[in-house]
Amino acid sequence: MIDRQAPVFVAGHRGLVGSAVVRRLQVEGFTDVQTVGREALDLRDQSAVDAWFDAQRPHYVFLVAGTVGGIHANSTRPAEFLYDNLMIHGTVVQAAHRIGVEKLLYLGSSCIYPRLADQPITEEALLGGPLEPTNEGYALAKIAGIKLCETYRRQYGDDFISAMPTNLYGPGDNFDLEGGHVLPALIRRFHEARKAGLTEVEVWGTGEARREFLHVDDLADACLFLMDHYSEAGHVNVGTGVDLTIRELAEAVRDLVYPGVDLAFDISRPDGVPRKVLDISRLTGLGWTASTGLIEGLASTYEWFTAALADGTVRT
Ligand code: GDP
Repeated sequence: MIDRQAPVFVAGHRGLVGSAVVRRLQVEGFTDVQTVGREALDLRDQSAVDAWFDAQRPHYVFLVAGTVGGIHANSTRPAEFLYDNLMIHGTVVQAAHRIGVEKLLYLGSSCIYPRLADQPITEEALLGGPLEPTNEGYALAKIAGIKLCETYRRQYGDDFISAMPTNLYGPGDNFDLEGGHVLPALIRRFHEARKAGLTEVEVWGTGEARREFLHVDDLADACLFLMDHYSEAGHVNVGTGVDLTIRELAEAVRDLVYPGVDLAFDISRPDGVPRKVLDISRLTGLGWTASTGLIEGLASTYEWFTAALADGTVRT
């Protein structure tokens, strides 16, 4: 178990994942959780990151920062996704190594796997084939991040581990209709359609693509679990092991937010990877499973969204 009294740095604490990790650490009784906003520290700047680590001297690091977005943002801004993430992963891993951080958890993404990987996707599928073009920049940066952790472990003996989550959702998500991921975008689109009394709601793609969704509070729990119980080179998939079609997801959001309205599929929008569901046997073998069902998680996320809309804190 990692020491609850030691300083812990959560890189990326304002994001969907980082805010969930901070909540989880607070519940767990960590007494010294360190965070810093991007206006105070540009994580792409090695000398600034080094200076910050020298001053703060964290013992543990959750590296969950990055430039993130949905299929549209990824495919139209590939250079930013590649550059920002490569730099952020490199600077933080190097600074953590330099000051002798005891343990670091790096968060990747299931888009690291080949576009046509066998399903469910095992950890061994990495680098077994070409990537999905709509998020290639992001995926390459994430693969480099995994390899950084592996090589720093191999060359220097650093205890740096990697977790690969499936598609995430939950409170604090980005509800921007163009830049965000499918689940928050659908929540917002159905919500606005109900308010406007529209008779149909747009869903991108054919609806046949399959995705797996994990509540971000479950991911935060898994991250802490791995920090406490896992110290090996291999990355670990984090998911539910259950997927559904985008049509089924849209129907579930419709039933929750605006029952009875028609779905209109916009096939000019890309489907992306045809199917993405993780093999989670490595993680379940270690003793961890997700606890939030999708319907329950959708309902609590919708509740969070309407409250955040009312108090003006939602990212749209
Ligand atoms: P991906 O898993 O990297 O492809 O990330 P996304 O969450 O952006 O997209 C997942 C799937 O949902 C893709 O097949 C999209 O075409 C589909 N989708 C349907 N409606 C939407 C939407 O409003 N926004 C986004 N981002 N995706 C949508």
